[in-house]
Amino acid sequence: MRVGRYEIASIVDAFYALDGGAMFGVVPRALWERKVEPDGRNRIRLAARCLLAVDRDARRVILVDDGIGDRWDARRADLYAIDRSGGGLDAGLARLGLARDHVTDVVLTHLQFDHAGGTTRSGPDGRPQLAFPRATHHVQRRAWQLAHAPSEKDAGSFRAKDFELLQHSNLLHLLEGDTPLFPDVEIIASEGHTEGQQLPRFHGDSTHVTFCADVIPTHAHLRPSWVMAYDALPLTTIEEKKVLMAEALEDDGILVFEHDPLMAACRLREEDGRPVFREAVEI
Ligand SMILES: [Zn+2]
Repeated sequence: MRVGRYEIASIVDAFYALDGGAMFGVVPRALWERKVEPDGRNRIRLAARCLLAVDRDARRVILVDDGIGDRWDARRADLYAIDRSGGGLDAGLARLGLARDHVTDVVLTHLQFDHAGGTTRSGPDGRPQLAFPRATHHVQRRAWQLAHAPSEKDAGSFRAKDFELLQHSNLLHLLEGDTPLFPDVEIIASEGHTEGQQLPRFHGDSTHVTFCADVIPTHAHLRPSWVMAYDALPLTTIEEKKVLMAEALEDDGILVFEHDPLMAACRLREEDGRPVFREAVEI
């Protein structure tokens, strides 16, 4: 898909699964299971979807989030039902004629393992190495701090070891809140899910593409009150979601779902004065 100066494509690093109850917070299973069928362990299938945006004139290749990565022992791979049989980011980049060394910038929405687990990967000798060794990694300063000193509630979502190599490289760029980042790309700061989450938005002619990360992780989460139990500030998530949806409606914008295993993105329409799902969009 072309949006302004960017060619934009979705790449799924892996599929995995999390507890369905945790993914839908206070929504009863009797309601959410009509949308998503859980497996025998009450887990629902999710995607670790990344977004690639290429500006060929500027020779800029931007990757938004880098997936769940390959550094998982058998017990956790089973717990999270990690399925990388699609070939992960390497296969996705290759389909677009690209390789890891072409990536100039990695924008990490936040540092939980299903978003930034692919920052480090296992090298040929089994030791960890930076997965995108030429890319500047853009992270909100508060997200960086939280990943290194998480609260008791979300300690299980971070693996500080994923970021040691980045910390000791010159490839880390810390950001402060809302900011333009590249031509026609703005960063929208978000606090509801976790401190210092950031959502990149790509602007084109009379439209935009917003990577919704964990504010709207799947199309089932378009309902404002369907928020995850993981969220630090669920009421803030609800307000942030409404703003993203109102802006998408106004601009005929596209919302990208990082965790939806079947639908990469959608457009909205208005119903009874509120934005609601209109159609899936292939990217
Ligand atoms: Zn997530």
